[in-house]
Amino acid sequence: MTVLPLVFEAPRRTKPPRHLADLTRAEARAAVVELGQPAFRADQLARHFYAGVTDPEQMTDLPAASRAELTEALLPGLLTPVRHQSADGGRTRKTLWRLHDGALVESVLMRYPERATVCISSQAGCGMACPFCATGQSGLTRNLSAAEIIGQAVAAAAAMANGEIPGGPGRLSNVVFMGMGEPLANYARVRKTLDALLTPAPHGLGLAQRSVTVSTVGVVPAIRKLTEEGLNVTLAVSLHAPDDELRDELVPINTRWKVDEVLGAADDFARRTGRRYSIEYALIRDINDQPFRADLLGKLLAKRLAHVNLIPLNPTPGSKWDASPLPAQREFVARLRAAGVPTTVRDTRGSDIDGACGQLAAADQVDGVPSVAVPVPTVEDAVPLGAESDQD
Ligand code: SAH
Repeated sequence: MTVLPLVFEAPRRTKPPRHLADLTRAEARAAVVELGQPAFRADQLARHFYAGVTDPEQMTDLPAASRAELTEALLPGLLTPVRHQSADGGRTRKTLWRLHDGALVESVLMRYPERATVCISSQAGCGMACPFCATGQSGLTRNLSAAEIIGQAVAAAAAMANGEIPGGPGRLSNVVFMGMGEPLANYARVRKTLDALLTPAPHGLGLAQRSVTVSTVGVVPAIRKLTEEGLNVTLAVSLHAPDDELRDELVPINTRWKVDEVLGAADDFARRTGRRYSIEYALIRDINDQPFRADLLGKLLAKRLAHVNLIPLNPTPGSKWDASPLPAQREFVARLRAAGVPTTVRDTRGSDIDGACGQLAAADQVDGVPSVAVPVPTVEDAVPLGAESDQD
């Protein structure tokens, strides 16, 4: 396996065209005025965008003569669907998107009886170089703009509202930043995205703070910044090992910020929000699934406001690693619970369409053209080797 360098600085590429979702409300109103239109048209455009309306002809509250100009100027199509792949009887749907510069990203919509979760990408590729993750192995292509990230959630909300997912029309209830990329390495755009997700309709998607999960390898200064923002979103930390020696290898950012520092930052976040954070831990056969590591993790977390979400490893092409066998998983869960740590096991929805955590390196070829890798992970769900399910 090649060892990749950590990359924090995203390569600069041509910027996506300006989009309303990148602007503040005041900026959007000013932009509309510049086009010779009354400022309230910005609010009309926002309403259409967040409702998932993309066809200017359906924007009947705009004067017919200016629909095309306004949408071209402020609602350019940034995400072109290349294909959808479905699993679980259509209740899991992965979409491959092409961006303006040909970069590709994926998002995965997962419908459950009680909720619908979309897993979105925050970067094209990823610079964090985790060796077990297909996206991490692809390297970083570029940061997504806020509008490109928000657009994935808006498309999912529209797919639910329009009844495109079996089960009848419904509502998007959860967003997880577990697709391609490290959200906290693209902080400013992700911050804007959080605003758009949480702002009530019609100026946003109106999601509940706890229903939005930011998952990170542990960019400590950014966790601290997020803590200061005063948002009560859910934080997930991809730990994958309780000891620095192994974590240095599995999550290379650990060479910069150690287990203690990451957990310290997450603790402060939890103290501020009063809510548990999640520890993600991909169980890898004979690498991090030993009973002694379960005990070590249990000891590390017993007094913390944390919950463990175990993910059976989704093997990626070329990797020498495999998922832990079921008995090892069960033993791991039992030891964590015995230590008093709430523990669930994530289901691997979409693994048959390479839509599960860490498998999004998808489309190495689109229309015969080799492409940028795409990520996208999984599901925020827990199906229990035995008990409660993860309702985050
Ligand atoms: N960069 C963020 C979000 C990415 S992916 C982060 O690392 O948290 C979401 C989760 O999927 C992370 O916990 C990641 O470590 C995990 N993951 C990556 N590759 C995986 C794989 N092959 N099998 C199981 N989980 C994986």
